[in-house]
Amino acid sequence: MLELKGKKVLVVGLGKSGLAAALFLRRRGAHVTVSDVRSAEALAKEIPALIEEGIMVETGGHGLLTFRRQDLIVVSPGVPLDTPELAQVKSFGLPVIGELELAARFLKGKTLAVTGSNGKTTTTTLLGEILTAGGLPTLVGGNIGVPVVALIDSSTDETWSVLEVSSFQLETTEQFHPNIAVILNITPDHLDRHGSFENYIRAKERIFAVQTAEDCLVLNADNTPCEEAASRAAARVYWFSIEHPVSQGAWFEQGSLVYRSAVDASTEYVMPSRGIPLKGAHNVENVLAAVCAARLAGVPVEAIRRAIENFRAVEHRLEYVATRNGVEYYNDSKATNVDATAKAVAAFSGGVHLILGGKDKGSPYTVLADLLRQRVTAVYTIGVAAAKIEKDLRGVVSIRSCETLDKAVAAAASAARAGEVVVLAPACSSYDQFENYEQRGRVFKELVNALRD
Ligand code: ADP
Repeated sequence: MLELKGKKVLVVGLGKSGLAAALFLRRRGAHVTVSDVRSAEALAKEIPALIEEGIMVETGGHGLLTFRRQDLIVVSPGVPLDTPELAQVKSFGLPVIGELELAARFLKGKTLAVTGSNGKTTTTTLLGEILTAGGLPTLVGGNIGVPVVALIDSSTDETWSVLEVSSFQLETTEQFHPNIAVILNITPDHLDRHGSFENYIRAKERIFAVQTAEDCLVLNADNTPCEEAASRAAARVYWFSIEHPVSQGAWFEQGSLVYRSAVDASTEYVMPSRGIPLKGAHNVENVLAAVCAARLAGVPVEAIRRAIENFRAVEHRLEYVATRNGVEYYNDSKATNVDATAKAVAAFSGGVHLILGGKDKGSPYTVLADLLRQRVTAVYTIGVAAAKIEKDLRGVVSIRSCETLDKAVAAAASAARAGEVVVLAPACSSYDQFENYEQRGRVFKELVNALRD
């Protein structure tokens, strides 16, 4: 186990996980400094608790000396690894790890980790409920909002920690070693941060880098980067598919979800797909991945079925908001990349009024063209990405330039006819006009709820 007592540790970035890591390290006897580029005013809420614990705080930028003086650096997922001070101390051989790696060294029990470009929160939440329904002592955390270090004190040798892990978190793992790892899908996202799709794939594959033949890896048989990843894995590979049977794993067949534990084992019937209370084929994929991982963790089929039937869409994930004048409104503010938007549109047979835009993340919107032509009546653009969206989708579908969300909701509400749907699935992040996707989703819901029937 990592010895922290008396060690000098710097935590870079004071987000939720950075804050939790700093307090954890201090409690374990380390001399802790935190460094953040934000100003002292912007961090006014966090600073007093840190000072009180005897943690030193550097704000408004990073000092190279602060970095060089340390024994260990714990970097937050939001901080790019090519930040000059980090790159330099790394080149001196100073260990740089993330909060996930730090926590993994202390977490007791077994770990089930879920990554993917889309569906992580939905699948992680569902798996938490399935394992609990199966009677396993379960903790849920990671990228989902509860830092992994915050789980350590509650973990025991019997615990299953179900962790949502992002590519940013995986970039700084070394020994992180889930007993069961799930990659839901790999599609272009965060190219602004990772530089290329190949780098992004490499980061995702770190989820199984330290796994052995004792461990399990669950992969999407319908996603090419996942298929390619299998040959690089030392773990036992299981598959899920909505398209065809798999050698071992879970799949969709004639309206049912089924599971097979090994090539020569018999097929188990799990449940009918209409028992899944979520919209869209992508959610059938998430459920199949969860079925497979949960069976591998030893949860009986009956508990799996019960937990799925009782599950509800996580807020901002293709969440039904209201019906006004016969038009249904859905909040998919978490659709912050092109693939998630494609999945949202594909969940409806047609008549979609789609709100797109925000802060661009570097992927082209042209891949949406066919789907939009088939199912979308009109696109309403918002935010700084509007110009690129309009250029990429010109001539494909009617596009209204709305600039802001309130204007987009008003325009869509006046254009949509009874039986059609209005969907906020913006394919962009929210940081140009909103604090985060949650706030964007809440504003959307308020605007919709204020519409007259
Ligand atoms: P993540 O945590 O990976 O961002 P979420 O469950 O929060 O995943 O969902 C993010 C967005 O992706 C939402 O818009 C959701 O509707 C969509 N989505 C969920 N599951 C999938 C999937 N398997 N494939 C593509 N899109 C998905």
